[in-house]
Amino acid sequence: MLNRSKIDDFLTYLKGLNDLEVLVKASEKQRFSRDFFDYSPVLKAELSGCCADLVVKPLSIDAVMSVASACHRYEIPLTLRGAGTGNYGQCVPLQGGVVMLMNALNHIRNFDSYTGDVTVEAGCLLGNLNSYLLSKGRQLRLSPSTWRTATVAGFVSGGSGGIGSVRWGFLRDPGHLLALEVVTLEKCSRKIQLDAKSSEALNHAYGTNGIMTALTLSTCTAVDWQEVAIDCGDFSKALELFQICTRAAVDLFLCSLLETKIVESLPAWSGNPRGKNRLLLLVAPDGVSTLERIAKENGADFSNLGSEEKKIGNGIRELSWNHTTLHMRSLDSNWTYLQMLLPQPEIDAIQAINETWRENVLWHLEAVRQQGVQRIAALPLVRWQGYGQLEQLMTDCREVGAILFNPHVITVEDGGLGVIDSDQVKTKRKYDPKGILNPGKLKGWV
Ligand SMILES: Cc1cc2nc3c(=O)[nH]c(=O)nc-3n(C[C@H](O)[C@H](O)[C@H](O)COP(=O)(O)OP(=O)(O)OC[C@H]3O[C@@H](n4cnc5c(N)ncnc54)[C@H](O)[C@@H]3O)c2cc1C
Repeated sequence: MLNRSKIDDFLTYLKGLNDLEVLVKASEKQRFSRDFFDYSPVLKAELSGCCADLVVKPLSIDAVMSVASACHRYEIPLTLRGAGTGNYGQCVPLQGGVVMLMNALNHIRNFDSYTGDVTVEAGCLLGNLNSYLLSKGRQLRLSPSTWRTATVAGFVSGGSGGIGSVRWGFLRDPGHLLALEVVTLEKCSRKIQLDAKSSEALNHAYGTNGIMTALTLSTCTAVDWQEVAIDCGDFSKALELFQICTRAAVDLFLCSLLETKIVESLPAWSGNPRGKNRLLLLVAPDGVSTLERIAKENGADFSNLGSEEKKIGNGIRELSWNHTTLHMRSLDSNWTYLQMLLPQPEIDAIQAINETWRENVLWHLEAVRQQGVQRIAALPLVRWQGYGQLEQLMTDCREVGAILFNPHVITVEDGGLGVIDSDQVKTKRKYDPKGILNPGKLKGWV
């Protein structure tokens, strides 16, 4: 919490600004100081007490600029919030100050019908943007499984990939983010335009080095994705099938594999669990018959669930990525999770981990394209048994060759490869010289 009289002065100043809602109720400050960090018992203990001193909601870019200049002048921390669906406390104000809600800035500014590129304001919901794109014969290349509720800037700043990653890799791969409009944190805040190269340092920086007000993204041709489930009793066989599917000449948009016990914990609308491991796939219409043949040749049960178009909120997208974790946790909040890229051959690594951890780890795999190569990411469910056990499990995973993306830490670097990205830090020095934006989240700055 900051000095009361400084906050009061600041508040009086903010109340005189146009196009700005100021929220001061304790319930609002608490609500907008949280995200989904409670998926991690470690972060829950660390972040539950953090709270903003006030919350603002700008209704125009001019208001964003005024708030930015004021935070700079008064030296008050500023944390940006999209929809607040992050899992690592990305939009939790560690040092209090202001939380700025970006969701009123949500216009779609431009669509280029030749390239398919779209320019959209930061707070537009990914679901709304996708509906707009579908009307133009295009769609988003990448979305989190929270695609209906999350914002565009929140995804680019805090997310990494998800649905579409099997084809399009990850958000930080060159080609997804083409340009940014950014507001700086200076005495007289500026609104600047960044090209694709200069935008890279703000991509996945947790809003620590600039306020995104608009983004230009590439899109892909819309496809009427078909939902397919393939059930297989033996896990090794299911993994083999998973790999056959990702290597086949079919257009996939999602390919997840859930272990039997996870399938049994999914909501009733997901269908009869059948006591088997389940592959969930989004495939182009011309690939359905091939998947059916692959499943049958391998003795698995094939279900064509039809077009995903009408499955509003209850489609296989909502069973994948961290929605799988959500469903497990809604039955028993003692489950947490890890995120990793598995070494090859994946089955050897999984079996090695199972030898020690069989009772406490359940496997959830996602097919991804990593630096142009088809790989398997895992988001295993982990039964919480304390910090020491979690650390030991992470050590064991690293020992079998997995690359961990630790979801139980708060900094950009610790959640990635642990390496400081000097461009992110240089960009912060340029656009946020006093270190006002989301303090405590960029280790390289500290
Ligand atoms: C059930 C569940 C499933 C999920 N699945 C996925 C998944 O598949 N893939 C994935 O990547 N993530 C996933 N997530 C995490 C999260 O939902 C996504 O990353 C989402 O895109 C975040 O968007 P948001 O609008 O909620 O951002 P927020 O949580 O509000 O913010 C995220 C970060 O972006 C910053 N930020 C927000 N707006 C701006 C701005 N205008 N300028 C600069 N910085 C800004 C914030 O300060 C914060 O650091 C999941 C989370 C849950 C709870």
